[in-house]
Amino acid sequence: MQLVINGLSKTYGNGVKALDNVSLTIPTGMFGLLGPNGAGKSTLMRILATLQEADAGTAMLGDIDVLKQKDEVRKVLGYLPQEFGVYPRVSAYQMLDHIALLKGVINNAERKAVVEALLQKVNLWEHRKRRLAGFSGGMKQRFGIAQSLIGEPKLIIVDEPTAGLDPGERNRFYNLLTEIGENVVVILSTHIVQDVQELCSNMAIINKGQLLFAGAPNDALHAVKGKIWEKSIAKSELENYNAAHAVISNKLIAGRPVIHVISDVKPGDGFVPAEPTLEDVFFSHINGVLNPVAA
Ligand code: ADP
Repeated sequence: MQLVINGLSKTYGNGVKALDNVSLTIPTGMFGLLGPNGAGKSTLMRILATLQEADAGTAMLGDIDVLKQKDEVRKVLGYLPQEFGVYPRVSAYQMLDHIALLKGVINNAERKAVVEALLQKVNLWEHRKRRLAGFSGGMKQRFGIAQSLIGEPKLIIVDEPTAGLDPGERNRFYNLLTEIGENVVVILSTHIVQDVQELCSNMAIINKGQLLFAGAPNDALHAVKGKIWEKSIAKSELENYNAAHAVISNKLIAGRPVIHVISDVKPGDGFVPAEPTLEDVFFSHINGVLNPVAA
């Protein structure tokens, strides 16, 4: 099973081109869709989750036509949206039970087994009687994963799941996601490079609706190996360096900007080679330093 997206485009009524002819093949396993805010990630996720129409293009999940056979997609879809609304007054158990019923698990004994197993899996068993209103961000996200797993989905879409989680919660969430089967297509949409680095065997980078890279994170790293240079400079020099070099990022370290520059040769005095990170890859693409790569 794989998800094959071909020439997908979407322009909103206000003229914003949120997706511009995106073609992408997504195999089973964890796939990271990386892009800054406004890149078009949610638009793509919502189209794949049958919540929004595309203007053009196709998407096939195995032999299911995602854009046309919406009911078929919904049967095999687990979706954790960016804003996960829950009824705050009901308990985790009641809510999960309710969603399972809506998803068609009508046999009481079967539903009880499903709900109990999921609460254990996402480590919320001891909190099952608590109201969702009292849940932390991390607990809400784990609850979100539990509901998305009802009905043994083949396609799981998780939209910006770790935004707002503290490092401990993020780690617990990562561990949970890694346990989800490798025979499922899991798309993780995020603007956080670390999410992709820790979890994903394949990835794509999009910006302004366009696909800039698709492939394995290791291949992306390999492409910039030996080309990333680092230098600590004074704040007042930043503008000059930006003008003179292909600066892909700058970070304040102990109050001084440390810039990363992409260049085939040493860009100048004081630059030292840096081991490329996925963040370097990401900013190289986003800042237009690397040419777009076709999928
Ligand atoms: P991301 O999830 O990567 O942040 P989105 O898909 O939410 O990106 O948005 C892509 C672009 O489309 C942005 O410029 C955003 O402002 C615009 N956009 C998103 N939803 C709508 C909408 N309903 N109407 C008009 N413009 C929208």
